[in-house]
Amino acid sequence: MPEFNRDREVEYLIERELKPAGITDERVLEAIRKVRRENFIPPSLRDRAYGNYPLPIGENQTISQPYIVALMTQALNIKDTDKVLEIGTGSGYQAAILAELARIVYTVERIPTLLDRARTNLYSQGYKNVILVLGDGTKGLPEYAPYDKIIVTAAAPKIPEPLLEQLKNGGKMVIPVGDRYVQDLVLIEKAQNGRIYRSSLGGCRFVPLIGEEGWKE
Ligand code: SAM
Repeated sequence: MPEFNRDREVEYLIERELKPAGITDERVLEAIRKVRRENFIPPSLRDRAYGNYPLPIGENQTISQPYIVALMTQALNIKDTDKVLEIGTGSGYQAAILAELARIVYTVERIPTLLDRARTNLYSQGYKNVILVLGDGTKGLPEYAPYDKIIVTAAAPKIPEPLLEQLKNGGKMVIPVGDRYVQDLVLIEKAQNGRIYRSSLGGCRFVPLIGEEGWKE
């Protein structure tokens, strides 16, 4: 089997997959280049770390496809002053990408084993601006609201009302909305006057968002 060459793999992903698919924001591409996806997946899958597809991370959950991570991050246009809320920590990879771009990232996960692993992983790699919280993210994280940006990385049947409330005026949110098998990746923009504008970034397929304002288990 050919040796795993991390630099070559990540450049291939960026040049052959992400850029042709419309990921052009240099800050996003730089974050993808910097964060080591192989550190967020089971060691047995390391050789596939830079394939453009989701991978299993245990507990029936997945680390998202790199293109989807990049697309959602690009759509949020994250600034280095932003306070970001992520729902669905999973492996912690998306949180690491966000942490490269934002001032602070709050991330909520409902499965304790995943949260513990993500915390160990992120802290051992030096991410000090990520706060990990166990709980039902469909209710948001009111303690630290409002947020400049919100990203939901599991599929919702509808947009949870608490997340809309916890988004700042002038803020953006990305969230997959649809049924259990196929969803629309929705971009929400909240104007300065509080009005909500909704647009679509295309089709996607995520694991379900389970909770009070999501799917029942
Ligand atoms: N962002 C993750 C990453 O970078 O690895 C991938 C997220 S995975 C596709 C979806 C995650 O959402 C799972 O870990 C799942 O347990 C979590 N999840 C589902 N419902 C949730 C809820 N109500 N609150 C918090 N996390 C939830």
